[in-house]
Amino acid sequence: MSELIIRDLRASVAGKQILNGVGLTVGSGQVHAVMGPNGAGKSTLSHVLLGKPGYEVLGGSARLDGVELVGLPTWKRAQAGLFLAMQYPTEVPGVSLFDAMAASFEASGRAVDQLESLLRDEADRIGFDQRFLDRSLNVDFSGGEKKRNETLQLSVLAPKIAILDEIDSGLDIDALRDVSRRIEALTDQGLGVLVITHYKRLLEELRPDVVHVLAKGRIVASGGPELVDELEDSGYAAYAEA
Ligand code: ADP
Ligand code: MG
Repeated sequence: MSELIIRDLRASVAGKQILNGVGLTVGSGQVHAVMGPNGAGKSTLSHVLLGKPGYEVLGGSARLDGVELVGLPTWKRAQAGLFLAMQYPTEVPGVSLFDAMAASFEASGRAVDQLESLLRDEADRIGFDQRFLDRSLNVDFSGGEKKRNETLQLSVLAPKIAILDEIDSGLDIDALRDVSRRIEALTDQGLGVLVITHYKRLLEELRPDVVHVLAKGRIVASGGPELVDELEDSGYAAYAEA
């Protein structure tokens, strides 16, 4: 049983405070959805949790199974069991998915000899063309291919907790179903998920236990899946003043 405990997290970027005290706890097998208006700080939260340079933590904490993540380099956070599927995956010319995953396996002491068959099986499972495994990471990938690629990495790396930042953006209906079903299956094996999304469709397959509304850098409401319907009907106006 793993737990990511975020407490009163406050952070700034480019000299401007964006996170004003975020708190939530995600456990193994749980899905927490974070929804909220554009510019609320959702991606900032994901970057701060992974330790992206340029984001300054002003206070609070984020602990994964007792390990304080704040202050650690990104690779140590990954080694502690945290994974981020980025809203805008980075293009890495000259480095293939296989290379990147091999480096990651080696860094965590996992045997690389099974990696190729693992990657090929997973690619088939989520409908990702195996030709992409040897091409430069994300270079000339479509929006949908980038998101399938993020899902593939998630499945193969098997972290404790995954943060998914708009993994549904750019996906067509079939890809969305493949990706969300795969991640839902991972939660059955114990993966904890913090999923940032604007859309109900993703949450129909990847069913949230808790839904949070993030506005102006704070969680202003939390509830069950019914909150998604309420937001679809009335938007964020009721939370704008919070
Ligand atoms: P969301 O993902 O909820 O739409 P973001 O976290 O991306 O929102 O952005 C929150 C605010 O922080 C926005 O006003 C955005 O312009 C600002 N911001 C985020 N990252 C940076 C950055 N690297 N430099 C300057 N401003 C940033
Ligand atoms: Mg964002």
